[in-house]
Amino acid sequence: MAETATLTIDNIAKHYEQSGNHIAAIEAVSLEVPKGTFKIIRGPSGSGKTTLLLAAGGLLRPDEGAVRVRGEDLYAMSVDKRTVFRGKNIGFVFQQFYLVPYLSVLDNVKMPGIALDIPELETRAQALLKGFQLGERVKHFPSELSTGERQRVALARALIAKPALLLADEPTGNLDMDNEQIILDCLWNYVREGGAVVMATHGLRTEGFDDVYTLNAGKLHV
Ligand code: ADP
Repeated sequence: MAETATLTIDNIAKHYEQSGNHIAAIEAVSLEVPKGTFKIIRGPSGSGKTTLLLAAGGLLRPDEGAVRVRGEDLYAMSVDKRTVFRGKNIGFVFQQFYLVPYLSVLDNVKMPGIALDIPELETRAQALLKGFQLGERVKHFPSELSTGERQRVALARALIAKPALLLADEPTGNLDMDNEQIILDCLWNYVREGGAVVMATHGLRTEGFDDVYTLNAGKLHV
């Protein structure tokens, strides 16, 4: 029997009402993301990328369809169960890193792990930061880092709970090409270790990825 995919998106749709207008943000989107794959969702601003990632990550209930992570139907769970499940299984990175400005780099990375009671949290956070070339910066505050370094901190934080799935919404959008490559290398390492990535982008060189999909007005094309 084939292994259950890390993420299965089954025919989801999400519509918004905005000032009397009906907006079909995503329509009839299906996608399977097996363990160890790196998928790209390309599309211009407004094409539905963020809506799709939020729905995929259990943060936005679709109007239709189902989302399964490791075989578990996210929106069939209670809100509390989904919150815990998400914390353990799904990491997020965004273009704006959402680091906590008054916490050190190390504490930012440790933060999601505290509620989840992750064993050896300090050691794991230190190791992740070292792997991302930030071993010397653990006591610094986000304001003391470059944009690329901040994104690496956000990525380390997203990986602290060893999630099966990482959802990345334009994580390299603010970065120059060198820093973009560093982030992509970090993501590839995570994929090689058995993770699965879905990354939204409106630009980016797309060679080398497992699959590149295009979202256009809410519809996904291969
Ligand atoms: P992208 O990430 O590709 O820029 P989004 O998923 O953010 O696309 O948006 C898709 C469409 O849905 C856009 O037309 C956007 O204006 C609309 N939209 C997104 N979020 C909301 C919301 N909370 N309320 C109303 N419309 C929204």
